Amino acid sequence: MNHHVVVVGGGITGLTAAFSILANADENVSVTLLESSPTTGGLIRTSPFAGLDAIDEGADSFLLRVPYALELTRDVGLAAALTSPTSAHAAVWHNTLHPIPPALVLGVPAGLSSVTVGSLLSPVAKLRASLDIVLPKRKTDHDCLGAAVRARFGRQVNERLVDPLIGSIYGGDTDKFSLEAVPQVAALSSERSMLLAARKTRAASTATGPVFAAPLRGVGALTSAVRERIESLGGHIRTGARVASVARGDAGRYSVAYVDTNGHSQLDAHAVVLATPARHTADMVRTLNKDVADYLSAREHASVALITVQVPRSQWKSSLNGSGYLVPKPDQRWVTAASFGSNKWAHWVPDDGSVILRVSLGRDGLDVMHHDDETLVNLMLADLKHHLEVDIEPTSCRVSRWPESFPQYRPHHFAALKRAETDLSSSAPGVFLAGASYRGIGIPACVQQGRAAAIAALDHVRSTRT
Ligand SMILES: Cc1cc2nc3c(=O)[nH]c(=O)nc-3n(C[C@H](O)[C@H](O)[C@H](O)COP(=O)(O)OP(=O)(O)OC[C@H]3O[C@@H](n4cnc5c(N)ncnc54)[C@H](O)[C@@H]3O)c2cc1C
Repeated sequence: MNHHVVVVGGGITGLTAAFSILANADENVSVTLLESSPTTGGLIRTSPFAGLDAIDEGADSFLLRVPYALELTRDVGLAAALTSPTSAHAAVWHNTLHPIPPALVLGVPAGLSSVTVGSLLSPVAKLRASLDIVLPKRKTDHDCLGAAVRARFGRQVNERLVDPLIGSIYGGDTDKFSLEAVPQVAALSSERSMLLAARKTRAASTATGPVFAAPLRGVGALTSAVRERIESLGGHIRTGARVASVARGDAGRYSVAYVDTNGHSQLDAHAVVLATPARHTADMVRTLNKDVADYLSAREHASVALITVQVPRSQWKSSLNGSGYLVPKPDQRWVTAASFGSNKWAHWVPDDGSVILRVSLGRDGLDVMHHDDETLVNLMLADLKHHLEVDIEPTSCRVSRWPESFPQYRPHHFAALKRAETDLSSSAPGVFLAGASYRGIGIPACVQQGRAAAIAALDHVRSTRT
């Protein structure tokens, strides 16, 4: 008997799930992936810009410290086409650009020199931060990232290092973010001194070589390659198919209802992987479990706009040779971070020698989506002038809007998620949640979740055979 698994959502999580099921199943398992947009990739999109074929509109790289994304590139034959950022260093803007100290673990100082050297922290803040080494350990149960860092190092280390670094990864605000959801920092906070623990972590790390990688043709090349592999393994991908609900069907199966240009349709499934953002997933599971649906619909997300800018070389200062900068919350107007793309990536230099920047606006608590594109570009140029003292008249600009794209892991996120997953698995065994809303937003974490969901779906299918 043929068993059918339906994967909903064609972002990196859903694509990985569909691919992993097909790569690990026998010929009696078929897979259909349903994606509401006209194309797959979700939040990963790469398109031509400034005469170059492939400049990312969202994610531009993935972390190599964990293996999942790299393994996926190998599985789909892309590993030989990877590159890594140059060694240009990033800065933090506070009245001027300050180089980010080298010895940090996600912004947490991993050596005394990271707090005592440089001009980013005030003399009093340097002294306060150094106290981490001698302060006794305090037990807390608040699960708040910002509060945990402040308790050890004082206000400025959080405000000027940890919050900008972690905030730029999650589009978040560390004062409203779960400590547990950033496991590298959570592990440090369980030790008496975070600084000494961070130093130990760095010393123990045997990793050499680059920290990030990306396909030479952009991160979109990864989602395209996974899609091709799914199709070559016999998987079906239907784009323009918006899933409305998943309901119980006959004999432990599920009925997945969707709408496409042909109207309303449904698919019969033995297992379902829901790799869509939590708020979208909420409606799908409402008839299966109302409490889980309520939990999912209450998840909060932040929106960002990412503007890609082509700057004539004559308007760019040669001293701006780093990889970009982050803006601490109290200093932010609209821009939260700017990446000097042509310094960061050797292959992002247009033929005319102009400079490509990618500038981020908005985060949790700083909404920018109500501005039209022209206003966003003007706000961005005013901020760049304020930060860098450069008058830029861009040759071209591209505004990429990412509404509700960054899930916010509020304190105690994992405890609430676990309860919802347990509820769902008892009321709807064989229906699985995966993706950025749940256990990590980076590409490696999404790949890991896609694979875990694939294994769970296959286990479920096998258990129904016996
Ligand atoms: C601007 C930006 C920059 C980033 N930079 C990086 C980076 O450099 N490195 C990194 O590792 N990560 C980065 N990220 C994070 C990472 O890109 C995302 O977290 C990840 O791509 C999310 O993948 P996903 O598959 O879980 O979700 P999504 O990509 O959101 O995919 C979900 C899919 O579900 C579909 N869908 C929704 N509702 C339905 C429905 N009813 N029926 C059918 N389909 C539906 C959507 O159309 C979408 O395609 C960045 C994110 C953004 C926004």
